Amino acid sequence: MTLPSLRESLEAHGLMAKKSFGQHFLLDLNITRKIVRLGGPFDGDVVIEVGPGPGGLTRALLETEASKIVAVEMDGRFIELLGELNSVYGERFEVIEGDAMKVNEMQALVDRSLPPLAHIVSNLPYNVGTPLLIKWLTGPWQPLSMTLMFQLEVALRVVAPVGDNDYGRLSVIAQVLCDCEKLMDLPARAFTPPPKVDSAVVALKPKAERPEKAIIKNLEKVTAAAFGQRRKMLRASLKPLGGEALLEKAGITPTERAEQVSPQEFLRLASLI
Ligand code: SAM
Repeated sequence: MTLPSLRESLEAHGLMAKKSFGQHFLLDLNITRKIVRLGGPFDGDVVIEVGPGPGGLTRALLETEASKIVAVEMDGRFIELLGELNSVYGERFEVIEGDAMKVNEMQALVDRSLPPLAHIVSNLPYNVGTPLLIKWLTGPWQPLSMTLMFQLEVALRVVAPVGDNDYGRLSVIAQVLCDCEKLMDLPARAFTPPPKVDSAVVALKPKAERPEKAIIKNLEKVTAAAFGQRRKMLRASLKPLGGEALLEKAGITPTERAEQVSPQEFLRLASLI
């Protein structure tokens, strides 16, 4: 069986994008194939896709050598349309109806007798993009890799180097835990309907060595304090966590400001608290 085009599918099911679900669809398979090619390879691995919507990115993922695609979609209107993919791809595709913020990925994989490891690929709904990224970075379950579409501003924050205008808490946490790279930019007009801002795809690959849970918690704490008052010198903003003594122990000049401190230096601070 051949699948109808994504536009035909949407029309046949009478579906329109809903703003409340952050729906901006990619209906050009050349674009979704490019995202998947840059984010891969996924050979023999499971991929979890968040927010498949009409399934443009899903179709590109199903064309790869991934062993299985498990999608999580919150908007129940799309479940029937997505079910059509089973007529071509059988059990290699499965959709879970639910909120990705609440899904326990490890449990979802184990319940399906799948290995507990999977890649995450998503054209993320803008309203939950950052919380979902924080969940996958710091939560108890880590993906093998993440290939994520964000609004450009968030993508730039993830990859920003120390000293850059976009450098902040998200840059530090993401870069301590992952190798982060911007893979491609996408203008707003690539989406249906077009959002107000441009987008970009970021790849995040977890580093081989992961700090202990307690150190990650401290990293969240110290970056919140430092960037919460980013204009202040660190000896003032970090006072409740040890101030000048802590900074000196970590070999950081107490008069520096948060944006001058590298991810590795923040990690050092987190391990000394
Ligand atoms: N992947 C599709 C594409 O690229 O055309 C749709 C992307 S659209 C930006 C975001 C999708 O995420 C929508 O299908 C939306 O219904 C879904 N979504 C929104 N919030 C969600 C959540 N908390 N959990 C799971 N899916 C969600």
